[in-house]
Amino acid sequence: MLQLDIFTAFAICGGSAAMAAGLMRPGQGEDAELAAALRCGRDAFVVLAVSLTSVLALDWMPVPWAQALLTAGAVSGVAMMGWAVARLAGTPAPRWSPWWLPLGVSLAVAAVVPLGLAGMNIAVAVGLTLAASWVVWLGRHLAWRPRSANERLVGLAAVLMLASSLLRVGYLVGWSGPFGPTLMHMPAWLVTPFALLYGMLPVTFAMLFINTVNERLRQRLHERAMTDHLTGAMSRHALADGAQRIVGSVRRSGDELAVVMIDLDHFKTINDRHGHACGDAVLRHAALVLRRQLRTGTLLVRYGGEEFLALVPVDDLPAARRVAERMRLALEDAPWADVLGTPTKATASLGVALLGSDEDLERAISRADEALYRAKASGRNQVQVALLAA
Ligand code: GH3
Ligand code: MG
Ligand code: MG
Repeated sequence: MLQLDIFTAFAICGGSAAMAAGLMRPGQGEDAELAAALRCGRDAFVVLAVSLTSVLALDWMPVPWAQALLTAGAVSGVAMMGWAVARLAGTPAPRWSPWWLPLGVSLAVAAVVPLGLAGMNIAVAVGLTLAASWVVWLGRHLAWRPRSANERLVGLAAVLMLASSLLRVGYLVGWSGPFGPTLMHMPAWLVTPFALLYGMLPVTFAMLFINTVNERLRQRLHERAMTDHLTGAMSRHALADGAQRIVGSVRRSGDELAVVMIDLDHFKTINDRHGHACGDAVLRHAALVLRRQLRTGTLLVRYGGEEFLALVPVDDLPAARRVAERMRLALEDAPWADVLGTPTKATASLGVALLGSDEDLERAISRADEALYRAKASGRNQVQVALLAA
């Protein structure tokens, strides 16, 4: 049967930690919190790697000091991972730098050296249990309330580390034999699986961690692409997906869909008179005012520069007109002077069309657009309704 030499296993685990440290490099332009999580994880793996590969120097160091180095590095390296998982899980990590840990743990472990082999064996098993408990606690949301399978796996990897160290404590409690230099006191048949587990865990953990970070970044990019940066309304890019959902839902429920085009009046003049920044503020506030008028289950899209499109499930055409009129009035009555700090007023013209039963949305949008142009031509700050689809 495969039997691993424990010091070789430590060295492999150290190499695995070094590879993990190499993997956890924050990319450029990443979210600051995620980048900090990766940095903390990398620092923890560097400490683990340095301490575990120090077994290669075992021949030149007295055993208790070699063990002390291994113990201090392993315990503080695992505990330092707490800062990384806390950032990923969104739990508050201590404000002090994790780099105090290698120092503090080293001093504590140095104090145990005079107790000899038994002391060091107990120190490593208890220390690892405390460190892993700390990591599991800080990352508890990952295991128990994960937002994805990747998150759960990161949390479970920490739980696995805790379970393995608890088992080591358990074996140590009932240990009657002499304490050796290996710091792994358990039945011989368990030593190899443990060595393999510790050899694989750093790289596996790093991969799961990076997968979670990448997943979050992908989600964020998606949200960014779907949201208009200036107004917070849905982007035109997102319209296709959102429209398909809302059209499908009204067709199933038998509701009608009001297609409302909204175009701010004389917006160019606002820009020209008060500056582009003021124009931007008008757009932001207009989107807010419009959104307040809309129930959930409706879509508000920034369709163009100062044009918005709302898709609103309604009972019939008069209801569609009422919704549009409510939006127009809300814009007219908005406290523009307070919002902008200048005596500006903003109004909008609106065109409304009801999506026909066989009509595609593009066609309904262009009918709403025609109605909007009639509203502009008839003096602005008003609602015009398109004829029903043929
Ligand atoms: P009308 O009442 O006929 O709609 O006149 P208007 O001035 O609103 O329409 P026009 O199409 O002539 O001008 C729209 C202006 O909107 C021109 C453009 O510079 C401005 N605009 C487009 N996008 C933005 C933006 O993101 N921020 C700001 N501040 N202005 C924008
Ligand atoms: Mg326009
Ligand atoms: Mg306009």
